Amino acid sequence: MERCKECGLCINVCPKGVLVRGEEYNSRGYRYVVPKNIDNCIGCKLCEYICPDIAIFVVRGVGYEG
Ligand code: SF4
Ligand code: SF4
Repeated sequence: MERCKECGLCINVCPKGVLVRGEEYNSRGYRYVVPKNIDNCIGCKLCEYICPDIAIFVVRGVGYEG
């Protein structure tokens, strides 16, 4: 949550439309990304690979941990 700078790269790369800008702001004033419909995630990890700030991780079977 603190690392996200709301660049939107992960939102744009996700093939399943899972990610959105959240309603909450981090301490730097960015609306960090959250999963809108995590059940649609196919675990491709494109969001993880593209994030320039290592702010998002994909882990099988854990669900969303903000
Ligand atoms: S999680 Fe990473 S790629 Fe996605 S908006 Fe935040 S900083 Fe950008
Ligand atoms: S791992 Fe899930 S949330 Fe990330 S880009 Fe792939 S489908 Fe989207």
